Amino acid sequence: MTDIIIIGGGHNALVAAFYLARGGRKPLVLERRPIVGGCAVTEEFAPGYKAPTLAHALGPLRPSIVRDLQLETRGVQFVRPDPRLLAVAADERALALWNDPARAAESIRAFSAKDAARYPEFCATLARLGAFLDELLTMTPPSIDAPSAGELWELIKTGRRFRNHG
Ligand SMILES: Cc1cc2nc3c(=O)[nH]c(=O)nc-3n(C[C@H](O)[C@H](O)[C@H](O)COP(=O)(O)OP(=O)(O)OC[C@H]3O[C@@H](n4cnc5c(N)ncnc54)[C@H](O)[C@@H]3O)c2cc1C
Repeated sequence: MTDIIIIGGGHNALVAAFYLARGGRKPLVLERRPIVGGCAVTEEFAPGYKAPTLAHALGPLRPSIVRDLQLETRGVQFVRPDPRLLAVAADERALALWNDPARAAESIRAFSAKDAARYPEFCATLARLGAFLDELLTMTPPSIDAPSAGELWELIKTGRRFRNHG
């Protein structure tokens, strides 16, 4: 019998339901639309043209989730475009954000030499913060009402690591 009800069947709900079911719970996902997937659903926005409704680029999908859900053996293919983003301006210039920061900086230079000069440093900062956040996502949050001494110690260590990023 159902012991957890999840309202909305977006990809976060589906992943949560999977792990709850794997942990022995009996989740029920209620979706108001005829299809699940939320903003990650691929739909035809003009005859013959399909794209995800909103989430057009893959966010931080953890490799462990890809493995656990066996996405690749179920036919999911991950496309890693290069450039990862292309913005065409009204004057027909185009800003391409290539995966290589130096190459992307060259593209940015046509719009702003100052931004181009800082872009590699910006990427390095994001990578550093991303690694910290990645670690944070794998942690079990401490109890809010009655944190144990061990949980508080972990929290202090995490806070110090965060401060070290400046
Ligand atoms: C403009 C825009 C662009 C974005 N681009 C990206 C991107 O490129 N890459 C990326 O990773 N993320 C992107 N995002 C963010 C991404 O879309 C969300 O983070 C993601 O969709 C959240 O997923 P979710 O499963 O939590 O909820 P959602 O995808 O919002 O799904 C919620 C689901 O709940 C259903 N629902 C809602 N209310 C009810 C109800 N009362 N009863 C039953 N069902 C209900 C909805 O129909 C829907 O299916 C973008 C967001 C926006 C707004």
